[in-house]
Amino acid sequence: MFILREMKLTDKQRERYSRMLALRDFSEEDMNKIMNTTVAMLGAGGLGSPSLRLLTAIGFGRIKIVDRDIVELSNIQRQTVFNTEDIGKPKAEAAAENLSLMNPEVHFDPICISIDNENIVDLLKGVDVIVDGLDSFKARRAVNKASLLLKIPYVFAGAVEYYANLTTFIPEKTGCLHCVMGDAEDNPEYTCAHVGVSPTVLSIAASVEINEAIKLALGREPDLANRLMTIDTSSLSFDFFDIGRATDCDVCSHPQIEPSQNRKELGVIQLCSRSYNVSPTKPLELDLDSLAKKLDSYYSVDRKTRFIVVRIDPEIRVTIMSAGNLIVKGVNSADAAARLFHDLIENVN
Ligand SMILES: [Zn+2]
Repeated sequence: MFILREMKLTDKQRERYSRMLALRDFSEEDMNKIMNTTVAMLGAGGLGSPSLRLLTAIGFGRIKIVDRDIVELSNIQRQTVFNTEDIGKPKAEAAAENLSLMNPEVHFDPICISIDNENIVDLLKGVDVIVDGLDSFKARRAVNKASLLLKIPYVFAGAVEYYANLTTFIPEKTGCLHCVMGDAEDNPEYTCAHVGVSPTVLSIAASVEINEAIKLALGREPDLANRLMTIDTSSLSFDFFDIGRATDCDVCSHPQIEPSQNRKELGVIQLCSRSYNVSPTKPLELDLDSLAKKLDSYYSVDRKTRFIVVRIDPEIRVTIMSAGNLIVKGVNSADAAARLFHDLIENVN
């Protein structure tokens, strides 16, 4: 809880949350707990979108939205937090903008970054509940370690095609991701892009995730602690399996993570959208107004409220965030994306 405020709800809040407050076993004090809870929504894609809509409507106090990609036309079918006009915008930014319209009571922190061992601890500091909307085991392994280290409960979910798996990891109480999945690797042939993903399985899985997040915020026992839930919407079946801690798991018996340090080189990651996310060795504080003015002499520049979009040529488009992160679309290699960072950020400033 970021500040334990025992405050009375305003009349407007009482009206906004009236159907929540009318629920059996849900008091005004419970609503206060929800409003004092910080959630990290990791990934604003297929699972993240319906989860974010629920978190926002319910009135969680602060939501960190972490995503590294931009909105594409092929996302809109299931990523229900975006509108068609959001195509090309960073997902974290577009989500925060749209969700603020739904519930201005909620504070959003959009962060356009690719999760790794170096940044995850800083990203999760001060967070009460982690909600999984990721699409890679590499990122999830970093999240698992940070959740153990910072003792933050981690609502895990993964979904593809018609299937979803869910469980809730509570440090020191349940097993961890490594206990259950070991060194699971992503199968490049079994991704949303190859086998598709049904919007309905995402919506059900997101509802289960947020049901768990509510229980954690209220200090109640979540239903998926030490239980794995599987959903199959091709036959509409829901199954539950008892799981637990692996006594030989060295990840949760000695939680540690490589200390947060500045990378020596640029981080360049290829994204689902076939763009590249480029992150500097340490977060920058760019003055987007003056950068936009300088770049305007050479390129076509579109200044948005929290980022700028630079058109290098008809194919190549670069989105620049104030922390110095870039999303580069239209280049064929990581090297070409890195070169644009040097040209647009380092050499201009
Ligand atoms: Zn473990």
